[in-house]
Amino acid sequence: MTDQPQGFETLQIHAGSNPDPATGARQTPIYQSTAFQFRDAEHARKLFGLEEVGFIYSRLTNPTVAVLQERVATLEGGAGAVACSSGHAAQIMALFPLMSPGDNVVSSNRLYGGTVTQFTQTIKRFGWSASLVDFDDVAAIKAAINDKTKALFCESIANPGGHITDVAAIAKIADEAGIPLIVDNTVATPYLCQPIELGATLVVHSATKYLTGNGTVTGGIVVDSGKFDWSASDKFPSLSQPEPAYHGLNFHAALGPMAFTFHSIAIGLRDLGMTMNPQGAHYTLMGIETLSLRMERHVENALTVAKWLEADPRVESVSYGGLASAPSHENMAKTCPKGAGAIYTVALRNGAKACEDTVANVKLFSHVANLGDARSLIIHPASTTHSQLSPEQQIAAGVGPNVLRLSIGIENVADIIADLDQAIS
Ligand SMILES: *Cc1c(COP(=O)(O)O)cnc(C)c1O
Repeated sequence: MTDQPQGFETLQIHAGSNPDPATGARQTPIYQSTAFQFRDAEHARKLFGLEEVGFIYSRLTNPTVAVLQERVATLEGGAGAVACSSGHAAQIMALFPLMSPGDNVVSSNRLYGGTVTQFTQTIKRFGWSASLVDFDDVAAIKAAINDKTKALFCESIANPGGHITDVAAIAKIADEAGIPLIVDNTVATPYLCQPIELGATLVVHSATKYLTGNGTVTGGIVVDSGKFDWSASDKFPSLSQPEPAYHGLNFHAALGPMAFTFHSIAIGLRDLGMTMNPQGAHYTLMGIETLSLRMERHVENALTVAKWLEADPRVESVSYGGLASAPSHENMAKTCPKGAGAIYTVALRNGAKACEDTVANVKLFSHVANLGDARSLIIHPASTTHSQLSPEQQIAAGVGPNVLRLSIGIENVADIIADLDQAIS
């Protein structure tokens, strides 16, 4: 091995994984064990005291899950990561160390529909709140930030409208406010977008989507850059002051760049229990081995199909940051130069009825509430994923009644186009 930093394509296969020391197994084994035997009483004491890193109990840490954590942290350029039971769990786990009752997060209004509901409804039960604003409007973001704001939150490429966020510009606003920027990098993946390099502190994923890549796992992950100074203000007492939930440990003083990650394991997973299981972690690791290859094909197919749709008289518009016609296209070179992902919306001229007919007539596309699968997927958001949003929220999210969401797969592109062509007819 040389000192030359390894490329993404190498790291997606190798980061975090070594032949199994006990058996030589080359693929990461599924350590389907709840507990791990301590060498002796001193070993047990050190593990519980966070003086030594190791495995205690799989709600907290597990060897298969640990490989996944290290791999995604490496691919995102972070210091550490915590895998979770779903993408939504990852969002709660990202906010948990930062927020107290009365605190708020300022978030983009271009969000996955489930996140809108989680942020505007469910987190209120914790005494937290979210202000949803247009993240293209710097003045609106700044105006929404107050003394109780503990994070900014956005998607690098927004689901479902394929809108590309200027992550570096948002990171600057977060820096000025002394708060972390959390980026949901699910639609872009670390292959297309590197939020930490652009200034983000935390990255969250629904591993359910492209990381696994074939619709077999529900999972999530939070990556911490390790770069945020939690002690620069008194905004983040759970990280920068003695934490009563962990015998008075000051996580930042004791663990430096790993403070957030250890807090998430030692308190977040311990008490919230949103843990990823070893089998899910194994499938996700398998998926990540081919992430770059899949994303190249996803992007190539998505652009070809989007251009075909845009030129079709039955189509009113296509909302995809990869098209020169898109308002957010100018952000592509800054945020995701290798491509704008493969999720977008298409508005049909003949309204909601045409959308329902198209969904009923597809043969190759699958009509499901998922995205980021190897197979092409279609859904009518207004009547499904986004039906719990108000009409105003639906329009803000770009999913009015005549809009379909497509997740373009890695099949032969001519077959994808042929299926849409016959279904829209
Ligand atoms: C699917 C999704 C989520 C939620 O992830 P789950 O694994 O379904 O909990 C969050 N953000 C984005 C952008 C998503 O696409």
